Amino acid sequence: MNYIQLEKLGEGTYATVYKGRSRTTNEIVALKEIHLDAEEGTPSTAIREISLMKELKHVNIVRLHDVIHTETKLVLIFEYCERDLKKYMDAHGDRGALDPLTVRSFMFQLLMGTAFCHENRVLHRDLKPQNLLINRKGELKLGDFGLARAFGVPVNTFSNEVVTLWYRAPDVLLGSRTYSTSIDVWSCGCIFAEMISGVPLFRGRDNNDQLLHIMRIIGTPDERTIRKMAQESPEIQVKQWPRYPKIPFQQILPKASPQAIDLLERLLQFDPAKRLTAAEALQHPYFASAGMSAPSAAAGQPYAMAPPAAMPPPSNYPYQHPQQVYPQQAPPNPQMAAMQQAQAMAQQAPNGYAQYPAGYTR
Ligand code: AMP
Repeated sequence: MNYIQLEKLGEGTYATVYKGRSRTTNEIVALKEIHLDAEEGTPSTAIREISLMKELKHVNIVRLHDVIHTETKLVLIFEYCERDLKKYMDAHGDRGALDPLTVRSFMFQLLMGTAFCHENRVLHRDLKPQNLLINRKGELKLGDFGLARAFGVPVNTFSNEVVTLWYRAPDVLLGSRTYSTSIDVWSCGCIFAEMISGVPLFRGRDNNDQLLHIMRIIGTPDERTIRKMAQESPEIQVKQWPRYPKIPFQQILPKASPQAIDLLERLLQFDPAKRLTAAEALQHPYFASAGMSAPSAAAGQPYAMAPPAAMPPPSNYPYQHPQQVYPQQAPPNPQMAAMQQAQAMAQQAPNGYAQYPAGYTR
């Protein structure tokens, strides 16, 4: 292999991850070793999916450099990132909670990466803080994109931990297999709330318990909604649920701004058809509010990658039925423009890692 395997970085859902170094360029990389079933080998669909992932190039997606396929294992060579969002929150947050500027910057980058994948018809299906990687420039990158489709979302991780359900959309928990981009948007909403408060929003023990946790906060959907969802996804079983009223998010997240709450509300819709798309969420006024622009690194302030302050809200805001209204009234290709801005910002983030602990060096 063209890479030297260094220390172990962690265990993921599908694989063991090691730090590695290229023998030719000395570049530090992450080696993700996927263990193959001795009898089954690598499913050809997985190889096809992974080849597609190599083309998914975006500043907010962990870059897949290479794929090495032997008889017993599959090694994916990824760009190296210092830590995942979970560890970042533990290290930098106030009991896990991040400051509003960092939340906004990370949320923007999370949505940018997600929108880009969705635009390229790739779903993640298992977005969670452990899958989001932060490098020392303060760039957030989505990891494992496409792997769920290549291998399926297993019940246990490779190290036999139970796969967390905390970020799973209610339609999926209800049994829907009509996976659409809205399932990733739900996860983005859960991650948003967790960055604000420092604790996961819905912490269920199993499928049913997870649904109850969701309903206890966003309220039990009315029968019409469940019936409509079951019509759209016939696998959904209609059953009786305890009737919980909705608890206002402001009560659960008292520190959040009204705009943050409004965005969260539009992401965490029980009915997948009512959730914003990632591209629509990027146009939300939360990302354009005055007084939230990035403090300049030159002023000696901690730098956080912030979304462009000048990004205008769409003219049809507030959205009535986003999926229908938005595409006709949006400015020409707003996502592309925002993406270019983010890429430019990423390149201009000289002190983006200023929030790392004292003594942390490049
Ligand atoms: P995953 O399979 O992506 O969940 O990876 C398990 C753990 O390995 C993560 O929580 C990270 O701590 C680490 N890891 C995964 N990918 C990378 C990467 N590209 N760079 C650095 N660490 C990584």
